[in-house]
Amino acid sequence: MRAAVCHGPRDIRIEEVPRPRPAPGEVLVRVHANGICGTDAAEFAGPQMYPLHARHGLTGHEGPLIPGHEFAGTIAEIGAGVDGFAEGDAIVTGAALWCGECAQCRAGRTSICAGYATVGLHRDGGLAQFVRVPAHIVFRAAPFGLSPDAAVLTQPMAIAVHALRRGAPTAGADVLVIGAGGIGAFLTFALARHGANVVAADVSPERLAVARRLGAVATMLSPAAVDAGFAPALVFEVTGTDEGVAAAVAAVEPGGRVVEVGIAKHAIALDLRRVTTKELEIVGTNALIGRDDVPEAARLLASEPDLWQDVAPQAIPLERLVEDGIVPLLEGRAAHIKLLVDPWAAAARATVMS
Ligand SMILES: [Zn+2]
Ligand SMILES: [Zn+2]
Repeated sequence: MRAAVCHGPRDIRIEEVPRPRPAPGEVLVRVHANGICGTDAAEFAGPQMYPLHARHGLTGHEGPLIPGHEFAGTIAEIGAGVDGFAEGDAIVTGAALWCGECAQCRAGRTSICAGYATVGLHRDGGLAQFVRVPAHIVFRAAPFGLSPDAAVLTQPMAIAVHALRRGAPTAGADVLVIGAGGIGAFLTFALARHGANVVAADVSPERLAVARRLGAVATMLSPAAVDAGFAPALVFEVTGTDEGVAAAVAAVEPGGRVVEVGIAKHAIALDLRRVTTKELEIVGTNALIGRDDVPEAARLLASEPDLWQDVAPQAIPLERLVEDGIVPLLEGRAAHIKLLVDPWAAAARATVMS
């Protein structure tokens, strides 16, 4: 099969590799498409999560790795001991893996499992024609009525759903989302569908236009959010930048909550005096809980199928992954909020979302 294989920093090669066989408890998925995000770009620039040189504790993977953690497809083969799937079933997954034994897993908080891992980051993923996945993290797509391309958006939407749960917005609350690209766009939609009055802030007018269509009642070209006298009770900070965090802590209403969604690339100084005197809550959110967040994400995506064309209008072939996908993302010049990669396509194609 054709696959993108990461061998080291800035070294992803499109190769012919053996088609994997599902282990007991796994299914083999024929990949329809795989979305890429900032994590893929960061790992391309300097792999930190990919177990290229040491065996991963949970997955056992060591060596060159096929990236791709945002994928959907159809069941191609069913491993021993797997029930509930038939060949050809369309599926979605959050790609999240957890140990099932630590204290957090036993409490249902698998997103902060001591051994948390992701298909496509810690074992071979979906930037290939086939990927094998543990069956217990796979959901049939048919009950949700998702189109194949929209199904590919389930993993990033599940990240947004998990962040939303961590923020626990009340219906009718004013909510500020700082950073409307990537997860911020999905979060804007999820919050709006939960009845929040979402204001989206971003430096890109194009992303803000999409945020409006996804349900934001107003938008702000950052960092205007701080000065506008808008004091929401809940702020989602999705950029992971110094400016974003400062804006979040400044803007949030006294007694309010800041959910830090963006993964900071360095230690960010925080105005703790403001946290103290405003009695703020600073809340983290990590990845997703497959059992809870993936079905909700699929349900949300299917509830407004026509919106996703704007978010992810294009799928590129595997051969263009680095040049047209990862490098533009790394350099901050990605044309759209989400780009899909179709491992079967010979040329770029428009997506079909409904
Ligand atoms: Zn991602
Ligand atoms: Zn665990």
